[in-house]
Amino acid sequence: MEMATRAVHQGTPEAGVNPRSVSTPIDLSATFYYERAEQLDAVAGGAEGYMYARYRNPTGVALECAVAALESDDGMTGIGALGFGSGMAALHAAILASGVVPGDAIVCAQEIYGGTIGLLMNVLAPLQIELRFADLTQPEALDRALTGPGARLVIMESLSNPLLRVVDVARIAEKTHAAGAKLLVDATFTSPVLLRALAWGADYSVHSATKYLSGHGDVTGGIVAAKEVELAAVEPFRKLVGGILGPFEAYLILRGLKTLPLRVERQCANAAQVAEFLRSHPAVERVYYPGFADHPDHEIARRQFGGKFGAMVSFEVKGADKAAMFKVIDRLRLCLPCTSLGDVQTLVMYPLIASHRDLAPKQRERIGIRDNLLRLSVGIEAAGDIIADLQQALGG
Ligand SMILES: *Cc1c(COP(=O)(O)O)cnc(C)c1O
Repeated sequence: MEMATRAVHQGTPEAGVNPRSVSTPIDLSATFYYERAEQLDAVAGGAEGYMYARYRNPTGVALECAVAALESDDGMTGIGALGFGSGMAALHAAILASGVVPGDAIVCAQEIYGGTIGLLMNVLAPLQIELRFADLTQPEALDRALTGPGARLVIMESLSNPLLRVVDVARIAEKTHAAGAKLLVDATFTSPVLLRALAWGADYSVHSATKYLSGHGDVTGGIVAAKEVELAAVEPFRKLVGGILGPFEAYLILRGLKTLPLRVERQCANAAQVAEFLRSHPAVERVYYPGFADHPDHEIARRQFGGKFGAMVSFEVKGADKAAMFKVIDRLRLCLPCTSLGDVQTLVMYPLIASHRDLAPKQRERIGIRDNLLRLSVGIEAAGDIIADLQQALGG
């Protein structure tokens, strides 16, 4: 079955109940009991079943089945997923499950989500885990970082933020595995509709479900998808640190998933139109969008994302300083100035005051994030209305 069909029909209530609900019930039970103590004993001993909601819960499992079905490319079996209370909790668990211990090193893409950098620097570095940031768009940079001693894990994003670079996941996976390390792909920006990272060789595909998977800006959650064998090492961290997704949140994300392929299709189509409009606007200096034929990663994006190019568009406003950028943002009436992405609404984020505010100006300059850069997460509105809003905000 195609992805659009799987998205609608997976994670539905268990068979054998008659009549069956169309929608998956929210099971809020914190603990579970059985008719016979023997059964509880079996579940406690590892048999399939529920016992305590911090270990696993039925609504969470329904969501996990649905995500696993979306993360599995044709013919792939043995893929599973685990739900977490946030994308950060999911990243934390996957990083620890990779087996990094004091003395090891983590190689991380240099252009990466600020929260991930914070997690690495504030939580992992103090545990004597060495961090090596590398520009993964340069093959030699990865080689250098991997040749150093103790490289255990490589962390990258499927579409970099906010400059939207795309790297060849299969090539990175091959080099990572040759060095005896594991590959974690944070695929939040692409969702499984554009990229099934496990199929390209990643060991962990992580999502902030707060973004595209739920898509409506009303829930915080995270996912780690992996082969069942890898996932078995992630689960103890979820159980013992306690970062499991709550049943109500699981329900909301599962509800969002049903329209994920439909939303992403529309968002990508809108983004292509918005990017074209921005490129032709006299007040716009430069547009970053992998769908442009002259984008440095256009071909790899086309191949890896199945002919789509994502729904993120970044652009620079000609000659604008911070005050001028504030004016542009304040003039927007439809596009909402928010730090998130992937929602049905078009969201605009100003890296200077949000994702990259903690970097020194020199650091920002070094990674190419200028004071006149805005990032759009294009929503599902009519493209003409999004463009009209940008047009009036840019003046013209
Ligand atoms: C938002 C985000 C996260 C963190 O997810 P939360 O749900 O906010 O914890 C991680 N990675 C990327 C790429 C994100 O955009």
